[in-house]
Amino acid sequence: MTEIIRERGRICEDRQCNGVTHKPGMRVFGHHIVELNDGGAALDKGNVMLRCGASHSRVTAENRGKRMAERY
Ligand SMILES: [Zn+2]
Repeated sequence: MTEIIRERGRICEDRQCNGVTHKPGMRVFGHHIVELNDGGAALDKGNVMLRCGASHSRVTAENRGKRMAERY
């Protein structure tokens, strides 16, 4: 993940993000676009999207909701 950040910079690639929390040098999180559980490639940089902390939290909560929905 550090290599991707070095190449792309500390940016948030989430198009749904309003960007209010973005600032230079912010902490970013790598997300797999296709989850590994769904057959996504762990080492494929094309399968990784960088997100800021706010987007990371939102997506994590959404995914948890989806998994829960599948379970019941
Ligand atoms: Zn963001």
